[in-house]
Amino acid sequence: MATDGNKKLTGKVAVVTASTEGIGLAAARRLGEDGAHVVISSRKKENVDRAVTELQAEGLSVMGVTCHVAKEEDRKNLFDKAVEKFGGVDILVSNAAVNPVVGGVLDCPGEVWDKIFEVNVKNSLQLSQLAVPLIRQRKGGAIVYISSIAAFQPAVLLGAYSVSKTALLGLTKAVSQQVACDNIRVNCVAPGFIKTKFSDLIVNTPEIRDKVVEAIPLNRVGKPEEIAGLVSFLCSDDASYITGESFVAAGGMQSRL
Ligand code: NAP
Repeated sequence: MATDGNKKLTGKVAVVTASTEGIGLAAARRLGEDGAHVVISSRKKENVDRAVTELQAEGLSVMGVTCHVAKEEDRKNLFDKAVEKFGGVDILVSNAAVNPVVGGVLDCPGEVWDKIFEVNVKNSLQLSQLAVPLIRQRKGGAIVYISSIAAFQPAVLLGAYSVSKTALLGLTKAVSQQVACDNIRVNCVAPGFIKTKFSDLIVNTPEIRDKVVEAIPLNRVGKPEEIAGLVSFLCSDDASYITGESFVAAGGMQSRL
């Protein structure tokens, strides 16, 4: 599959965080199907091994690295291993996020706020700081941050998480401006409700799911693959004139004009 020389990401090397499940795994798979060599990662070695085995069985060019994005040595090792195995890095998809609390923004304890902002925002910046010099060596490439529909319309019970995802829209703009001169494009994807472990409670509790679905004009929650195609597009030359932008994929949910 990945040996076809005419695919849009042939020869590119993509590092995807939190890519052993859900949206990250789907994005990794799609980048691989589109021809990239993909570095799979997440905190737990058994998850990394399982995802690598699964994607290799599909004929994709992948390797796995254990990486908790909040650990400095793990972040560094992630890129070191990518360079060692595949010779460089062209693409970063920063997908890891946490939401350890359910509640309004004013009810979020300071230490929980710090954790959310550390993983969702600061670690995305720190991963970019490692990726940019490597992508620069390749004379260009792409970074994609995974935000959320909640970045535009804060979810009442995901207060702090929503604000952290809004911050990623700003990070996208700021980083994109700084690296545009290096031919590095930086964009953001804001998914709506997608069926993954992260959204288990919402999707598997019929009363909550029915309420959520009412707010989705397409009348259903999304699938991880429906985010993956957008990620791959933004990493490819098809998006060569797009940078600093945020794209909502949320079945028509209210976001902005
Ligand atoms: P998911 O299916 O629950 O998958 C989470 C993945 O993250 C797993 O591979 C997990 O593996 C890994 N992970 C968790 N903490 C990590 C950390 N600190 N460092 C590295 N990897 C970590 O999640 P998802 O729904 O696909 O969410 C992915 C992204 O989409 C997140 O940024 C989320 O905010 C965003 N999003 C999701 C939805 C939705 O409805 N699902 C909507 C909007 C935005 P390990 O346990 O092995 O670490």
